[in-house]
Amino acid sequence: MGLFDTFRGSYKCDSCKEIFDFQEQTKDYENLLKDFYLGDYVDKGHRNYFYDFEYECPKCKSVNNISIAIRRGQFVDVISTETAETTNILELYNIKEGHQRNQNYENK
Ligand SMILES: [Zn+2]
Repeated sequence: MGLFDTFRGSYKCDSCKEIFDFQEQTKDYENLLKDFYLGDYVDKGHRNYFYDFEYECPKCKSVNNISIAIRRGQFVDVISTETAETTNILELYNIKEGHQRNQNYENK
């Protein structure tokens, strides 16, 4: 089965500084075609790590190295991989569950 899940969020391009929305497909989880937003619990093992990926800016086409912070299994932040390399994941805090989903709801 060629299924996957998708991280969704926004990121400020390191080159042109425009904020773009990304949709990053991942096969690291249950592959149930779920969408993962900031504040969602994505890792059933409650682990701590950065999920790194490359994403081409839709405006200037430069490639950004992006890291999603997973803290106790929760998607808690989106930062550059360069910043992630000097960040201790254990110092990040958990946030309100469903943070981004609630904002999406309120904006409707
Ligand atoms: Zn750009």
